[in-house]
Amino acid sequence: MTRIVLDAGHSYNTPGKRSPDGMREYAFNRAVCQAARKKLESQGIQTIMTHHDDRDIPLKERTNLANREKATLFISIHANAYGSGSWNDIHGIETYIHQENDPQSRSLAEAVHYSLIKETRRKDRGIKMADFHVLRETVMPAVLIECGFMTNREEKKLLASENYRILCGHTIAASILTFLGVKKTMYLVQTGAFSSIENAKKHAQDLKNAGFDAMITEK
Ligand SMILES: [Zn+2]
Repeated sequence: MTRIVLDAGHSYNTPGKRSPDGMREYAFNRAVCQAARKKLESQGIQTIMTHHDDRDIPLKERTNLANREKATLFISIHANAYGSGSWNDIHGIETYIHQENDPQSRSLAEAVHYSLIKETRRKDRGIKMADFHVLRETVMPAVLIECGFMTNREEKKLLASENYRILCGHTIAASILTFLGVKKTMYLVQTGAFSSIENAKKHAQDLKNAGFDAMITEK
């Protein structure tokens, strides 16, 4: 059973995690998770949320839950900050994995990161390594995505917008689906096989008359 952990970093009341003009990072993180969840579940993929609106779930609780539920992938969603709380020029998207020699996390990061860069057209700050708890303590492939800087005026406007949140969520979900190799299943309905083309055409016409799409193929 495929189950994807969507982990929105922090919570509404986590101190410090906000833009210079007061946008809370968690509001962005949770909206992106919500959009990703919708898209994944519409494709029959189960999701697990590790965050909560009322309290900042400790990191250990988040990774324990993912490990206990034997989640397939762990996706942590964040918005970045630079400096000591005032506006600055640093901007762009970066994605983190725990270490270089983890090919699964590396290719998951590549799938997510480069689709985000392509779809959002933000600056590519690269795939980086960091000893973050949620990356180190998870037993499944895990990535942490920083979707833009709250301390950059232009990116903060994006991070606060519904459109950018949905774009990030849908892009992350789509790249997860690509990574998993999930494609929409197509079902073909066959209604008859004929040795003569005339009979096949007649049958196709009967189907069309009855309101069905009909197509003749050779076998
Ligand atoms: Zn964060």
